[in-house]
Amino acid sequence: MLAGNWKMNKTPSEAQLFANTLVNALAGFNSFDIYIAPVFVALDRVREVVSSSNIKLAAQNMYYEDSGAFTGEVAPKMLKELKVEAVILGHSERRKIFGESDELINKKVKKALAEGLTPIFCIGETLEERQKGLTFCVLEKQIREGLNGINAEDVKKVVIAYEPVWAIGTGVVATPQQAQEAHEFVRELLSKMYGIDIAEAVTILYGGSVTPENFFGLFIKPDIDGALVGGASLKESFVELAKIMAKIIG
Ligand code: PEP
Repeated sequence: MLAGNWKMNKTPSEAQLFANTLVNALAGFNSFDIYIAPVFVALDRVREVVSSSNIKLAAQNMYYEDSGAFTGEVAPKMLKELKVEAVILGHSERRKIFGESDELINKKVKKALAEGLTPIFCIGETLEERQKGLTFCVLEKQIREGLNGINAEDVKKVVIAYEPVWAIGTGVVATPQQAQEAHEFVRELLSKMYGIDIAEAVTILYGGSVTPENFFGLFIKPDIDGALVGGASLKESFVELAKIMAKIIG
């Protein structure tokens, strides 16, 4: 899977225009899933552009209730009506800037699954945590709490994005070895929790300063199943990433 997180970038008309560029440039890339995640207010216009293409629509967040007094929030059913198929949950910017807890993220992951949306569930350690040797501890807590109460059948539908916080938007990418080591840890943990077959079925993406220059080395690693891309998804470099994936997958 290749997923572009556009974050708070591009107005609806800019998003529509760029989606149109991507539809043309990415036609024919059918050996993996391609998602783009524009801002909420651009989803409808982007949907019109991508509706008969191989590009799928993702949202950057959602709330876990159906409707009601939750000012500023968006419900899964509202996203589904716009043909959104996946939703990014627990992104480190949501965790840090908006104070989202593992418990809240768990509720959102469960709700997304219940509504038939694919959760792209983000985890990752900060630089300080890595320097203190806490990376695996942090990942284990985020996984156990974020997936709490989710059964084996459902967990197969969850996409996990390992995004070391120190690599997001910094230009400092994890080395292929660092990324593989974390992905392997996540897969082994899933194997302990759900069994080896389930663990192997879960898609685990790497995210954090992915560019066409560094992606090949990451994507050839055995436990890296694709990428969640921020900055490089806002430009034509997203197409270059797709080309690299296609070359490796064959
Ligand atoms: C992200 O925000 O999910 C991300 C990975 O950003 P960037 O690629 O810009 O580091």
